Amino acid sequence: MDNSSSGQRLRTCRACGKKFEYPVKGSAATRHHCEDCAILPTDARKVMERLSNRITQLELAVKRLMPKP
Ligand SMILES: [Zn+2]
Repeated sequence: MDNSSSGQRLRTCRACGKKFEYPVKGSAATRHHCEDCAILPTDARKVMERLSNRITQLELAVKRLMPKP
């Protein structure tokens, strides 16, 4: 089981990348999606996740291209 007794953890939404607290009473947020994305239709969320993955990859690629300090 979860070892956090205080309950709330900061999570990153898989679809939009937003950081959100979970669980929050009365919030539609799920373990992997913030409350904005949790209410999206599954198909739309799938596309969001695909785009989010691409952004993550692009961010990594940009970081690799950055000159080292
Ligand atoms: Zn989200």
